[in-house]
Amino acid sequence: TSAARASGVWKVYGSGEAQVVALRGVDVELERGRFTAIMGPSGSGKSTLMHCLAGLDSVSRGQVFVGDTGVTGLSDAGLARLRREKIGFIFQQFNLLPTLTAQENILLPLAIAGRKPDQDWFKTVIDTVGLGDRLGHRPNQLSGGQQQRVACARALVSRPEVVFADEPTGNLDSRSGAEVLGFLRRSVTEYGQTIVMVTHDAVAASYADRVIFLADGQIVAELTGPTPERVL
Ligand code: ADP
Ligand code: ADP
Repeated sequence: TSAARASGVWKVYGSGEAQVVALRGVDVELERGRFTAIMGPSGSGKSTLMHCLAGLDSVSRGQVFVGDTGVTGLSDAGLARLRREKIGFIFQQFNLLPTLTAQENILLPLAIAGRKPDQDWFKTVIDTVGLGDRLGHRPNQLSGGQQQRVACARALVSRPEVVFADEPTGNLDSRSGAEVLGFLRRSVTEYGQTIVMVTHDAVAASYADRVIFLADGQIVAELTGPTPERVL
């Protein structure tokens, strides 16, 4: 099965005069172990598509699956559980808790889920994130790029079925952005993580294996690289 899938997805916001059709019958299948970028003009439906795939937003028509779990029709509790157990999120604003250290932020999703970290995997993530002795620092003692790498490590530490990243480099200079993208790329190439990233930035999209272009709520073009060798 795929990591996530949308089938005939429509999304309509509001009603009557104020109605906005944000997605018009989107079909997309996200294979495991690939890095997909979603691009398109502002208002084309990128965030809506990501939110529907991630169970953050309900669809008006059609179906969404994460792994083999049907998202459409899940209760709020079921959606919360799906997000906790199968999905990692990375946002433009890093959304770290200011009173916790980098390491505590990274471990927080596992703590909330009452799960113990897999020590080997935790060490791998920590090594890959490249924070060195800054793991004990609080977010305000870290640069933007370091904070975003902490947020990436937090998204990856539970080995989710899929990680959704919404403009992860939108607040970073190009050098910090490249560090974050390199980290995400390695998590795909070396560890088989599945990542879906919304971006405006063609350089960011160049790290992906596949780029999907949205316009006016529909997929209008797609670029696919060679199928990468799977590690896991
Ligand atoms: P993008 O991420 O490509 O900029 P969005 O998915 O945010 O696009 O928005 C797609 C369309 O849906 C836009 O016309 C936007 O104004 C509209 N939209 C998004 N969210 C809402 C909402 N909560 N209520 C009403 N309209 C919305
Ligand atoms: P390292 O030097 O540790 O391999 P980088 O962070 O430079 O790591 O790159 C990580 C991964 O991202 C590598 O697989 C590399 O091929 C890829 N990569 C680096 N720069 C780019 C780029 N501009 N576009 C696409 N992929 C890139």
